[in-house]
Amino acid sequence: MAGKALICGGSISGLFTAAALLAKGWETEIFERSPVELAGRGAGIVTHPELVSALVAVGAETDRLGVDVHERVAYDLHGHRVQSFEFHQVVTSWDRIFQILRSMVPDDTYRSGSEAVGFREREGAVELALSDGRRVEGDILIGADGFRSAIRAQTLPDVKPEYSGYVVWRTLAAQTDLSSAIRDDIFQTFGFFVPNGTQIIGYPIAGPNNDLRPGHLRYNFVWYSEVSEEELRDMLTDAQGVLHPVTIPPPLVRTDVLRRMRKEAQSRLPAPFNDILKVSDRPFFTPIYDHLSPSMAFGRVLLAGDAACVSRPHAGMGVTKAAGDAAALAEHLEKSPVLDGLRAYSKERTAAARVAYETSRRLGSLVFNCDRNENLDGRSHPEIHAIMHKTAVVPPALRTQIRSSS
Ligand SMILES: Cc1cc2nc3c(=O)[nH]c(=O)nc-3n(C[C@H](O)[C@H](O)[C@H](O)COP(=O)(O)OP(=O)(O)OC[C@H]3O[C@@H](n4cnc5c(N)ncnc54)[C@H](O)[C@@H]3O)c2cc1C
Repeated sequence: MAGKALICGGSISGLFTAAALLAKGWETEIFERSPVELAGRGAGIVTHPELVSALVAVGAETDRLGVDVHERVAYDLHGHRVQSFEFHQVVTSWDRIFQILRSMVPDDTYRSGSEAVGFREREGAVELALSDGRRVEGDILIGADGFRSAIRAQTLPDVKPEYSGYVVWRTLAAQTDLSSAIRDDIFQTFGFFVPNGTQIIGYPIAGPNNDLRPGHLRYNFVWYSEVSEEELRDMLTDAQGVLHPVTIPPPLVRTDVLRRMRKEAQSRLPAPFNDILKVSDRPFFTPIYDHLSPSMAFGRVLLAGDAACVSRPHAGMGVTKAAGDAAALAEHLEKSPVLDGLRAYSKERTAAARVAYETSRRLGSLVFNCDRNENLDGRSHPEIHAIMHKTAVVPPALRTQIRSSS
């Protein structure tokens, strides 16, 4: 056995890390705060060849990964095509990636309902403290505990997620509930609507339980909308007057907040996207935050995935970045003694995270740092080419970062 890795967080990054280390002979133990199996509320995830390579490298199955989309199309306010080009991409769902990775990790090493509260490093080992008083010892500790990481809070207390000034509304609509006009056009594409000051993207994903049969798919609707900090505080306050810090569980979003969103959609979005919204599941919103850690390893403790860096979703890099972290970690630990390996990991992956973080910020600024009164119909965005070619695409500087074999 190469060593024992304690992993805090049992979501995409924690599972990818476990799978990559298991493939190199490490013993792993995952501590996940949630007492119930995680679920992604059907959120869509864009895949990249680098993500598929990383899955293959850890021995995961990649067949039936998602839906093949062949074209990117921008629509205007009237639902007419403004620009289009051929672009092949597999789009999947958070749940599908989670299920694939979860099946790679033995059940008796995945501890649900185990919340990490801190750690202590000792000579040659690290000890993780859990909220129920348990202490666990390992050779390394990985903070894969998401953007509000407890492990990062102990190592880098000054790194805090920063609110972008906008939220993303997401929902899913069943293919069968859509009109034939939508099914035959927008539904088949990776679609955009890019007026100044707001943005829609959408694409088809599998139906429930990864149902890829034609006719059984769902449309993944993603709408970025500007929201001031004051307005956000109101949106994060539930009907009982309780303010939820950072994010609010979707069922607690007040009905008047949903009503306001639908009214805004009615006035700003093309009719076909509004029609999709009308037949969709209850929409939920996520405020967009980002952060970048200046270093990803501290002695025997390291950060991975969103705990290390959240890049805004525009580049669609979160899962692929987590995969890259896991692959790099496993390789550096195979090549070098632990402390040297972690230093090399930190150097390589902090640089990669910076590229994802900056690329996504730039893409976000194309939507929001512009005159909101121009291009209301989405026909004349000066950066439409960049938006359509760079959204949910791996930035060139990261294309060789992910290992293609174990
Ligand atoms: C709108 C939107 C669209 C996106 N689209 C894409 C896309 O197309 N492609 C893509 O690659 N990425 C996309 N992403 C990003 C992607 O979803 C995330 O980057 C990725 O899921 C992060 O995984 P993670 O495991 O690092 O963090 P998380 O999923 O946040 O997991 C952290 C885990 O740690 C657990 N935890 C937290 N604290 C503790 C603790 N103290 N002790 C134990 N456990 C703890 C949590 O319960 C959670 O399970 C998108 C994100 C958004 C918001």
